[in-house]
Amino acid sequence: MTAIASPTYTGRFAPTPSGHLHFGSLVAALASYLDARSVGGRWLMRMEDLDPPREEPGAQAAILKALESYGFEWDGTVVRQSDRHDAYAEIISRLFNHGLAYACTCSRKQLEPYHGIYPGLCRNAGHGTEDAAIRLRAPNWNTTSSTVYKANIGSTWAVRSAIL
Ligand SMILES: [Zn+2]
Repeated sequence: MTAIASPTYTGRFAPTPSGHLHFGSLVAALASYLDARSVGGRWLMRMEDLDPPREEPGAQAAILKALESYGFEWDGTVVRQSDRHDAYAEIISRLFNHGLAYACTCSRKQLEPYHGIYPGLCRNAGHGTEDAAIRLRAPNWNTTSSTVYKANIGSTWAVRSAIL
């Protein structure tokens, strides 16, 4: 991603605490950090801790310590995804209320033949959300074009969904 010359630019690093920081993640953090700092922007830290069975005990602290030892300084406090369930539930509720999302009960095995391109099997099925994935309802959906969808929900909030 290219940084935009703007004082409001915000970059972030979002490691998954399934292990210690590896070299590839360090490079990603450095690129994001330099993008943000080169334009005077903010750089945030967000832990992607939404998969507890895969989380390695102590990995969050080890990742942060490693980054600090390399001189990284993030703005604000570390945001943990696991602390944001209420906010996500609120947004999902808004998306459903505006007809912008739907529940998908397809298993990974069912979707294997589509090679990563979701064919919209549940788009009009009206499934309940329990044990379902939430998918965005993109207008003019097809499998050959890229769609960018923006939704103004409540205040200003945008969702982008790229479907190739
Ligand atoms: Zn589905």
